[in-house]
Amino acid sequence: MSRERDPKCRKCRREGMKLFLKGDRCNSPKCAFEKRDFPPGSRHWRRGKVSDYGLQLREKQKIKRYYGLYEKPFRRLFDLANTMSGNTGQNLLVLLERKLDNCILRLGFAASMAEARQIVVHGHVRVNGRRCDKPMYLVKPGDVVSVKENDRSKNLVSSRLARTGKHELPSWLSLDPASMQGTVSSLPTRDEVILDIHEQLVVEFCSR
Ligand code: SF4
Repeated sequence: MSRERDPKCRKCRREGMKLFLKGDRCNSPKCAFEKRDFPPGSRHWRRGKVSDYGLQLREKQKIKRYYGLYEKPFRRLFDLANTMSGNTGQNLLVLLERKLDNCILRLGFAASMAEARQIVVHGHVRVNGRRCDKPMYLVKPGDVVSVKENDRSKNLVSSRLARTGKHELPSWLSLDPASMQGTVSSLPTRDEVILDIHEQLVVEFCSR
C-alpha cells in the first residue's frame, strides 16, 4: 500500500488554511501556518489571477488532504455521492464524515486523521463488536464503535482520550468514555462539517 510522505504543514500552507493534520501541534505556537501563512516556495514569488479551474482544483485538494484520501478512493466516494438523491456536494461531505477514521477522530480516540487511520488499520477498532480495519468503512445510524478488548488497544485509546478529552462531540455521535464506546445516533449533516469548503466547486471540478 502506498504511503503519504509529503510534509503535512506544506499542505496547509499550499491550501492557505489550517488543515489540522498534526494533532496537538496544530493548536500550539509551533504550527507552521501560524508562522508562515504564505504558499511554500520562494517568498518573492507572486501568483497571477487564479483561474476558475485553479479555484476548483484547490477546493478538491483541500478535501482530499483534510480527509487523507488519494485520488481513486476520493473519486469512488464522489461517484457514490453522484448516484444519491439530493445535492451531490453535500452528499459527498456527509459520506466523508461517515468514514470510520473520521468517526474515530471525532470521538477523540485520535488527535489527527492520520493517527485515526493508523488506529483503524492496526485493528484496534470494533464496529458492532466485529473487527473493522477499513478506514473507508461508512458508519451508519445505530453502529457502535468500540476499542478492541485488550490492554494495548485500551491503553492506546485512553491516552488519546485523555489528550483530546475537552473536544466537542458532533451531535450525530455519542460517547461513553468509561467503556470507550461511541454510538452513531444519526447521519451527519452539512452544518457539522468543520472544514471551510465550497463543495460546489469540487462538484464542478469532478464533473468536467
Ligand atoms: Fe497545518 Fe499547523 Fe497542523 Fe502543520 S501544525 S499540519 S501547518 S495546522
